[in-house]
Amino acid sequence: MQNFLKNEISKKIFFPLLFVVFCLFTYISYGYIKNIKKFLYAVNNFETTKINSEKRINDLERNILKLKEQNDLIFQTIDSEKTKTGSISTIIDQINNNLGEISNNVSDLERLSKTDSELLKKYSKNYFLNEHYIPLSLIDIETKYLNNKTRTLQIHSNVYQDLKNILDNANGNGMTLQIASAYRSFETQAILKSEYRIRYGAGTANSFSAEQGYSEHQLGTTVDFTTQKIGGKLEGFDKTPEYSWLLENAYKYGFIISYPKSNIYYKFEPWHWRFVGIALATKIHDDNTYFYNLDQRIIDTYLANIFD
Ligand SMILES: [Zn+2]
Repeated sequence: MQNFLKNEISKKIFFPLLFVVFCLFTYISYGYIKNIKKFLYAVNNFETTKINSEKRINDLERNILKLKEQNDLIFQTIDSEKTKTGSISTIIDQINNNLGEISNNVSDLERLSKTDSELLKKYSKNYFLNEHYIPLSLIDIETKYLNNKTRTLQIHSNVYQDLKNILDNANGNGMTLQIASAYRSFETQAILKSEYRIRYGAGTANSFSAEQGYSEHQLGTTVDFTTQKIGGKLEGFDKTPEYSWLLENAYKYGFIISYPKSNIYYKFEPWHWRFVGIALATKIHDDNTYFYNLDQRIIDTYLANIFD
């Protein structure tokens, strides 16, 4: 009975249990299979992803290379543009410089064309002023500068300030420098010449020497200095302190002694001073030479700046 019961119970429990076990096994197996499938899919997926990724990496690397090349090209272009811009600005600078030089040359030429070329000429028996020549502008010299207060003497108006400066500075330094003669017209000289002719005879009056000194006075830029110490005369001026002062200082005011002692060109005239501009007068002073000893071509380079 007990065995029978046991068998019955066993049967009743065993088969359902078997069924349950079978179901459980099936379920678990299904789960495993599903997971394996998932795993295999995942593995497959990973492989695909890996291949895709590698492809993408390669693509990216290629793209990066391409971009780098493009970048290099851009930088090269920028550099070459920079160089071009550089050369353009160099060219512009050059053009500006040239324009500046041209306008300087033009203003020099303008000044030169407006400057009387006679003002720096060396006069000789072959080259002298025309009888009709008169300075562009003359001005009366203040009487206080003259030795003879009753006379009217004139000077080239562009030279007057320098003439006043030299007289004021000399006389401010203990000198009594005065003007004996300044501008002389052709007519005045003609009268002088006839006086000379009467006094010395035609031969001497017509000599080259007389013509030469006269030319410089006709320019309006030349004066004869004197002092009360020698009674307003010209002779003996080289013995005065005024003459020594002029030798030391006249060039600073643009004046030079035309015919210095021992010049081989004309007789010594210590009183006769000609305005040639400060630059040329300074050169003559520094070179320890004299106007008539210089080459005319060198002298001419000072003409444009004679009144600076
Ligand atoms: Zn003179």
